[in-house]
Amino acid sequence: MPVNYADFRAIDIADFDAVVVGSGFAGAVTARQLAEQGGLRVLVIEKRAHIAGNAYDAYDEAGILVHRYGPHIFHTNSREAYEFLGRFTKWSSYQHRVLADWYGTYMPVPFNKNSMEIAFGDEKAARLIQKLIDTFGDERKVTINELRAQDDPELAEVADFVYQNVFLYYTQKQWGLTPEEVDPSVTARVPVFISRDDRYFQDEFQGMPEDGYTRLFEEMLAHERICVCLDTEAESVFELMFESGAEDAPLSAIRIKGEVFEGPIVYTGPLDELFLARFGRLPYRSLEFVYETFEENYHLPCGTVNYTVTEDFTRITEFKWLTEQKGPRTTIMREYPRAYEDPSTQIPYYAIINDENTARYERYRRLTDALPNFYPLGRLAEYRYFNMDKVVVDALAASERILFALDHPDAP
Ligand code: FAD
Ligand code: UDP
Repeated sequence: MPVNYADFRAIDIADFDAVVVGSGFAGAVTARQLAEQGGLRVLVIEKRAHIAGNAYDAYDEAGILVHRYGPHIFHTNSREAYEFLGRFTKWSSYQHRVLADWYGTYMPVPFNKNSMEIAFGDEKAARLIQKLIDTFGDERKVTINELRAQDDPELAEVADFVYQNVFLYYTQKQWGLTPEEVDPSVTARVPVFISRDDRYFQDEFQGMPEDGYTRLFEEMLAHERICVCLDTEAESVFELMFESGAEDAPLSAIRIKGEVFEGPIVYTGPLDELFLARFGRLPYRSLEFVYETFEENYHLPCGTVNYTVTEDFTRITEFKWLTEQKGPRTTIMREYPRAYEDPSTQIPYYAIINDENTARYERYRRLTDALPNFYPLGRLAEYRYFNMDKVVVDALAASERILFALDHPDAP
């Protein structure tokens, strides 16, 4: 069956038991579970003109399937997430590989034994690799911060090389900050890997939805008890009620079409937007994507090339590697980091995690704590840096909690 789309102005809110804001992984997984497991009639409100959140993909003018909000590669150690999504798609067996363009020479990222030989030559690399193995163990992953903390002069040389040639310029471009200034969890995503395994991820389950992400979402949202309203922004259809007029007064109810909505409300957008930024905006790093099509089979040697020492974009992705689409033309995408406020984007991609921003987020979050039927969920509503699989796992767990709360209204 196709997705059941409706115009928000035409729906009767009394026909719904639950409202989900956002149709990315957080929203779509929850909507499906509430409808299927709980038998709830679910209204999904999505401000964009399409479903699938930032995983949205579509065919460009050259007929190439491209990702519109950044390259998305699925990888997970969660069998639960993999199998749940596997109900709505077949998976390809694509394994992502990334090369750094190091002044015109390609070098695997994460920096590994093969990269070491390219950087230092075979003989010196052999000695350094042995030292890394003796210090950390073979097949181990070491963060750049751990490596830089080593006193040994040879390890310090490796650390310095990786820092200068892989992390420094890329991070400065990506975040407008040095690696020391970003949260350690950010650079820890791309460790030094004492291995010959040159895949970007080592997770047990990896692949791409065979017919693309948008098709996966269409399958997931196609359910007789799910209705999706596109081009509908929560702020414009929710009437927020507060316990008092004070700035920090908690949310006490949400009215939709004039009625207090008593059922679960799952909110997957940014919390500051819901509260019209009353405590100031939550800062994000944004991106501008520039596409180019070539009359050639492949343009790059692998799915993504990172520009770690040159250029003002961070990376180029060639979609045909990811999607395994065949044909005589190919489309690539360059990523230019931008300020959130930049008119070219204004899309909140990466939360900028630091103490000040987390404190501001917590202030927004406290406004929602007193409203038991309100569930903030996902990368935006939780102001975190989550991969897709984490969002799926969390959405499955949240759906269970929501259904449990409906069945046990008196439980604490
Ligand atoms: P989103 O996908 O952002 O969905 C939120 C939805 O809510 C959107 O559709 C939005 O339009 C809607 N919305 C927001 N506010 C409102 C509102 N007020 N009213 C109505 N609707 C609203 N993860 C991986 O696992 N692998 C990758 O390779 C990967 N690559 C990435 C590359 C980039 C550049 C970025 C930025 C992220 C990447 N991610 C990747 C992370 C992935 O995008 C997220 O984990 C995933 O999109 C989170 O899903 P979500 O539902 O929480 O948020
Ligand atoms: N990073 C880097 N050089 C690279 C790859 C990553 O400096 O070649 C740093 C950079 O700070 C980046 C972070 O590691 O933001 C996480 O990289 P990842 O590829 O996970 O970023 P994402 O795919 O989420 O944009």
